[in-house]
Amino acid sequence: MLNLYRRAVLGVAGIGPVERWSRRHGWRLGARRFVAGESVDDALPTLRALVDRGRSLIVDVLGEYVSQRASAEAMAGGVRDTMETLARAGLSPVVSIKPTQLGLAFDPELAAELATDLASRAEAAGGRVCFDMENHRFVDGTLELLGRVRRSGASRSSTVLQAYLHRTPADLETLLADAPAGSELRIVKGAYHEPAGVALRDGATIRRTYLALCERAWQLGAKVNVATHDDGIIREATAFVRGARLEPDRYELQLLFGVRPRLQQRLVDDGHPVRLYVPVGADWYGYFSRRLAERPANAAVVLRGILG
Ligand SMILES: Cc1cc2nc3c(=O)[nH]c(=O)nc-3n(C[C@H](O)[C@H](O)[C@H](O)COP(=O)(O)OP(=O)(O)OC[C@H]3O[C@@H](n4cnc5c(N)ncnc54)[C@H](O)[C@@H]3O)c2cc1C
Repeated sequence: MLNLYRRAVLGVAGIGPVERWSRRHGWRLGARRFVAGESVDDALPTLRALVDRGRSLIVDVLGEYVSQRASAEAMAGGVRDTMETLARAGLSPVVSIKPTQLGLAFDPELAAELATDLASRAEAAGGRVCFDMENHRFVDGTLELLGRVRRSGASRSSTVLQAYLHRTPADLETLLADAPAGSELRIVKGAYHEPAGVALRDGATIRRTYLALCERAWQLGAKVNVATHDDGIIREATAFVRGARLEPDRYELQLLFGVRPRLQQRLVDDGHPVRLYVPVGADWYGYFSRRLAERPANAAVVLRGILG
């Protein structure tokens, strides 16, 4: 059922007039719950308050899929400015970037150059870059891009693996065999509507696979960023950390800004390292659509707003 719902929401979100209407009204109708500000300057008070309340941050400069060199360069400029603003404000420039924002879809060479520049700037300022994982067509390109960035010297750069993809257990082995010691890896369920040939559909199997991936990544020496709001996964992953007596620097619990705030607070109160993924920027439409697609109740909030 949830798969059908997700397909419907992401399908409708892609229809031109729906997109144009939503871009005009969506901020008021709920996007602001999931996005900290339409610019990093707007977002700074929120970011500071989150840090004061015990969360670390990874900032996502919103945007995805560009098809022209000038747009990729402008996007990279936006990420650079954001990192500078964060550093000036005394916040660590830890950022998440979608490789298609940097041109991966049409010029992997350009994307790698821009990614390398951003990752080395982030590390010079005491931060780092994580390359988000997008739909399955970009997995190879993203893993190659990460390899190039790391070989250029930005060794703290990392990426994401999606538990729902059939290929992920094999990718995890390859990625961690080549990774610098103690490198980070974010594991997620996966947010895109993927064909059954490439992705698992059954929630219980995705959950089991997720936990198996975390355990294997820990065995291979990685720092695992357990990125989910799923109570069962969080419970079992943290039990594994305790049972295996892993140091606190071997894991983080990562959650999305605006999603399950009470759970976020409980995890902080329990002493876990918690990092929030905080989107900023005006290009919030694709991100907001995926959050609506994850949970029917989120779409109901928007509908109530539309109907007054
Ligand atoms: C830090 C972080 C980074 C991510 N990066 C990527 C990435 O690079 N690539 C990628 O494909 N995906 C990414 N995702 C999204 C991920 O793949 C899932 O789509 C998303 O996390 C929802 O799955 P879940 O694991 O939280 O479990 P679910 O089973 O979807 O949710 C568990 C519980 O949380 C609640 N919940 C989940 N989502 C929402 C929501 N939007 N609003 C309100 N409640 C909600 C559910 O109602 C349920 O109670 C990321 C997620 C996080 C937390």
